[in-house]
Amino acid sequence: MNAEILAIGSELLLGETIDTNSAYLAQQLAAIGINLFRKSVVGDNEERIAAAISEALGRADLLICTGGLGPTVDDVTREAVARALQRPLIFHQHLLDQIEARFRAFGRPMPQSNRRQAHVPEGARIVENPRGTAPAFIVEDARGTVVVLPGVPSEMRYLWENAILPYLRDERGETGVILVRTLHAVGLGESVIGELLADLMTQTNPTLGISAKRAQYELRIGARANSRADAEAMIAGVEATIRERLGANLLGAERLDQTVARLLRERGKTIALHEGVAAAPLYHALSAQKDALAALRGVIIHPADIPTDDEAAQSLARTGAVAVRHQWRADVGLALQPSSVIAADGFATMCVALAHDGGVNEWRRRFDMRSEDVWDFAGTMAFDALRQYLAAL
Ligand code: AMP
Ligand code: MG
Repeated sequence: MNAEILAIGSELLLGETIDTNSAYLAQQLAAIGINLFRKSVVGDNEERIAAAISEALGRADLLICTGGLGPTVDDVTREAVARALQRPLIFHQHLLDQIEARFRAFGRPMPQSNRRQAHVPEGARIVENPRGTAPAFIVEDARGTVVVLPGVPSEMRYLWENAILPYLRDERGETGVILVRTLHAVGLGESVIGELLADLMTQTNPTLGISAKRAQYELRIGARANSRADAEAMIAGVEATIRERLGANLLGAERLDQTVARLLRERGKTIALHEGVAAAPLYHALSAQKDALAALRGVIIHPADIPTDDEAAQSLARTGAVAVRHQWRADVGLALQPSSVIAADGFATMCVALAHDGGVNEWRRRFDMRSEDVWDFAGTMAFDALRQYLAAL
């Protein structure tokens, strides 16, 4: 079964409300193995909603709509579904009784406008809504099944869990599972990783997707199967292939900061930092993990040096790493020093030095200084160097 989600509401198009319903539903569909091929958003306009529904049914077997079931004139989802499926709206007295009872429970009279909520398209299966006034409904049409849920997130989730999920599982036999495992990689460019894994990325099941986050990469493996065990076996196969191809650049389920924190703990090593820039990227990266801070002995932030060439920057990094290690009697001294020379292309050299009991290791790489994330990138380079040193101990 292939699904689409349609989020309805002009506030979503204006960017005032974030469409969290679609994200929730996407996760829920994956949990029962239903492929989701598209999510769309449309405003509160009957004609455009009806068109979106018709288009979606041309592609998908299951369409899940949220929003626009309220009592006010701008809530027109009911009418739009009726129009798209060419079914009249039918009034149900028992729904009106329930809505009236809810108002009575609040000690208020029911406004006439709520009468609209007691209508559903002909032949629809009604899903009663004990959490709100708007009943939901399911229409099994020749073109596909349309599930219509209210927009209020708590009501939507309640009806999903208590009515729609049981319907899909028990009546439609959707008992599969889509599992996703996220791995992390560092130290390679996105296009290099893309080339190494191209064949895995074009497979349909299991799938592999890559996204770059500040010089680290998230590799998402997704597998669809009839059981969790089968999906896990499929993922394990892909993971083994990725490990073979990326080697030490693959971190596994941990992110870089988590890996470094674990290695510091496991190896029982302490660390001191020398920051050649006020943004203090090394301290930021280290303090992302609370238990890594336990290994920290001291930090010097010294942005005042202006190294006028790459050699001078490398030399400052080297003396900085040695000095902080010595000053705080740490096992490792880690330093980051940018060169002050920014080339015409906007790039500058960033130098890293790692002082330890066997000497000093050094790295340098050029970074785009115009990037907002340049210090995160530099911190990633330094932490990857630290990781490799600790892992080899
Ligand atoms: P509605 O059912 O369209 O009247 O929506 C009721 C309320 O639910 C809106 O005012 C929004 O705050 C919220 N809402 C509607 N659609 C969504 C959505 N897709 N994601 C998150 N919140 C939503
Ligand atoms: Mg609305």
